[in-house]
Amino acid sequence: MDLGLQGKWALVCAASKGLGKGCAAALVGEGVNVVITARGDAALQATAAELRAHNPDVQVIAVAGDITTAEGRAAALAVCPQVDILINNAGGPPPGDFRDWDREAWIAALDANMLTPIALIKATVDGMAERGFGRIVNITSAAVKAPIDILGLSNGARSGLTGFVAGLARQPRLASRNVTINALLPGPFDTDRLRSTMAGAAAKSGRTVDALMVERRLLNPTRRFGSAAEFGAVCAFVCSTHAGYITGQNLLLDGGAFPGAF
Ligand code: NAP
Repeated sequence: MDLGLQGKWALVCAASKGLGKGCAAALVGEGVNVVITARGDAALQATAAELRAHNPDVQVIAVAGDITTAEGRAAALAVCPQVDILINNAGGPPPGDFRDWDREAWIAALDANMLTPIALIKATVDGMAERGFGRIVNITSAAVKAPIDILGLSNGARSGLTGFVAGLARQPRLASRNVTINALLPGPFDTDRLRSTMAGAAAKSGRTVDALMVERRLLNPTRRFGSAAEFGAVCAFVCSTHAGYITGQNLLLDGGAFPGAF
């Protein structure tokens, strides 16, 4: 299926590794020019080189910076000729007990996982509407649908974003101009983030990371973790010209782990 995205420009945040990289790779494979960001320059440049090799016909621009800061966002937006597709992503907040989280911890989580995506939407969405095409995908978490107690900072910040977007996506001035805003909710995907979460759990429980990984995999109906490539393929479809009637949705990608009928 031709996704109809040749020549578009995407800003893919937090994309040197993991799910963001999976989205960038899928978009590049569809002929989309990308601006990718991450804080660490070495991994970012390596990913940019991989993406260029994947499709030499597209432009790949790498901007090192912290997307949760105003400077990081401005730097990324400055090099993107126009943002047709915006993939909002950033690292997730640390796990813990809410009794230990002070105002600073909450503000950091809100900045990263709620206010940064909102700022980037604000900077790009009206231009999309003017041009009659826009796709915004927020990478949130399965924890928005089925909150995980130790991820309270994530549950709270991402739910705030989800509620805000539910209203915004339905504004006729956006929806009727072919601008969609959706979220992808990852369950367990095999990325550095998953492994570092497991390392934390292993250190606490005295068990090995490998043992916990096997146990976690077996808890999923598919008996495996998702891959960044699978995640990216879904993202590319949601960004495609075929997906203009899908907006304001929260799409769970969890191998069927959530036990509800819908
Ligand atoms: P990952 O493998 O650790 O990759 C994170 C990427 O984001 C890296 O490229 C990282 O590069 C970049 N990044 C992190 N913070 C950034 C910042 N402030 N500014 C710019 N770039 C930043 O993580 P992932 O598994 O892909 O997770 C992506 C998101 O999905 C996270 O919010 C995570 O909590 C959420 N999620 C993941 C899973 C899962 O199973 N993997 C499940 C649920 C939710 P630098 O560190 O160099 O900046």
